[in-house]
Amino acid sequence: MAECYDLIVIGAGPGGYPAALKAASLGKRVAVVESRELGGTCLNRGCIPTKTLLHTTSLFREVTHGEMVGLEVHGAAVHAESLKMRKQQVVETLRSGIEKQFIKNKIDLYYGIGSVTGAHEVLVSGTEPVRLEGHYILIATGSRPSIPPIPGADLPGVVDSDQLLEEVDLGCKQLIIIGGGVIGMEFAQIYSDLGCQVTVLEAMDRILPNMEKELAQNLKMILKKRGVEIHTGAKVQAIRCAESKLLCVYEEKGVEAGASGEKILIATGRKPNTENLFAEGQAEAVGLAHGYIPVDDHFLTRIPDIYAIGDVIGGIQLAHVATAEGICAVEDMFHLGRTFDMSVVPSCVYTNPEIATVGDTEESAKEKGLETRTGKYLMSVNGKSFLSAQERGFVKLVAEAEGGRIIGAQLMCARATDLIAELELAIQKKMSAQDLATIIMPHPTFCEGIREAAEAILEKEYEKR
Ligand code: FAD
Ligand code: NAD
Repeated sequence: MAECYDLIVIGAGPGGYPAALKAASLGKRVAVVESRELGGTCLNRGCIPTKTLLHTTSLFREVTHGEMVGLEVHGAAVHAESLKMRKQQVVETLRSGIEKQFIKNKIDLYYGIGSVTGAHEVLVSGTEPVRLEGHYILIATGSRPSIPPIPGADLPGVVDSDQLLEEVDLGCKQLIIIGGGVIGMEFAQIYSDLGCQVTVLEAMDRILPNMEKELAQNLKMILKKRGVEIHTGAKVQAIRCAESKLLCVYEEKGVEAGASGEKILIATGRKPNTENLFAEGQAEAVGLAHGYIPVDDHFLTRIPDIYAIGDVIGGIQLAHVATAEGICAVEDMFHLGRTFDMSVVPSCVYTNPEIATVGDTEESAKEKGLETRTGKYLMSVNGKSFLSAQERGFVKLVAEAEGGRIIGAQLMCARATDLIAELELAIQKKMSAQDLATIIMPHPTFCEGIREAAEAILEKEYEKR
């Protein structure tokens, strides 16, 4: 006899586990199937371990470059084993927190590979296969690194982000990163903070190609100043062994060049975990598109009562997006009102300085045919930034020309990843530049930059009158 549930969730990442908890809080009988560890990519191989490493390495950079703020530290060092243990401890503590919440909420957890064998049926394979029945199924199986077909990509020393996070190889003196996206930039930050010679090879004409141009240009300049070599428009052709190192052969502006290093990180995007997820018949019905699961606005797949959310449906692949989508899906199943507005999503890069964006850029607004006014404030004249010797940075706000409603923000400064929430709120609540400019901000703080950028929009308006 199969166990019967109101909801079966496949995958316990930041998409699946909060959805399971939400359904359980509504009094539903919930099962979760997980093939690896609770917490998914984000907790075990993504957000949390990278930010744990970044916390230590940026502290290290700060104390070892503290002359500007009157700090002279001798003998500072990062201990690889301690940092590795710290990362493990953070991950395990947070993971056991999820486990406790599952127990408290009476969620049945099955370890094994889940596959959808019928519209209401999931098979958990393992040493003893288990058949589960569920009124609803939520697929939240996430993604994994995607490695392009570069000859030599399988050589020892060529790693993906999962492997590099597992190793925490702080002894690496020369790291080549293929892919100048978010993962590439965060690892470039970690390793350059430690004094490693980092070379980034990005195929597009700029790093962070999905972000606003000015953010990418500024980050490139800052990283170059710190010794990171960045090649854009670089098409990697092959990886070879050369003496005791690895040689990455690439073409830049039609010219063949080579970069050699001890290790190569490939960070060129991710692919969905959908292999063998559906039994015959189900796979055709769900209609995978390049491996991703197509869904409607309610996160319902083409099979009734089967929902899918998070990285496995493609689109924006972020932990908070997966969580919000999971909650929306559960709300749809059990006929609750929707809590999240999925149209306003913040996006962050945890480099130094941090980058955070939300809503429209000037360019994307223009493409939509919107007339805009922008306000930019250089953080070099912000008191808190100056006294704490921060890097160059800015706060840029985009508002509708008519009425001044805030529709977007791009930040590059200390604590940008926290400050962005204020601007997300402003967009959600349809606040104007006038509203933001009349909020009394504490002094001295980084958030004064937001008020100043709003003020800059108003000044442009006054000049016009
Ligand atoms: P996942 O987190 O991938 O979880 C899916 C789960 O399903 C996994 O545990 C997997 O084992 C399980 N699973 C897969 N197939 C099956 C199966 N057949 N049966 C049972 N279980 C299965 N996002 C941010 O918002 N902020 C960040 O700072 C950030 N940093 C990142 C850093 C790195 C290095 C990486 C790689 C990603 C980062 N991300 C970040 C992205 C974020 O991790 C993902 O967007 C997020 O984890 C997606 O959540 P998910 O629940 O959809 O999938
Ligand atoms: P990405 O899409 O952000 O960047 C991949 C980069 O690799 C792109 O710039 C692309 O042009 C480049 N590229 C692709 N093929 C290449 C090739 N053959 N040679 C050279 N360059 C090549 O993907 P990612 O950095 O792997 O990150 C994966 C996902 O994880 C992203 O969707 C991101 O949202 C998420 N993530 C988020 C955070 C965060 O929120 N702070 C941190 C890390 C990862």
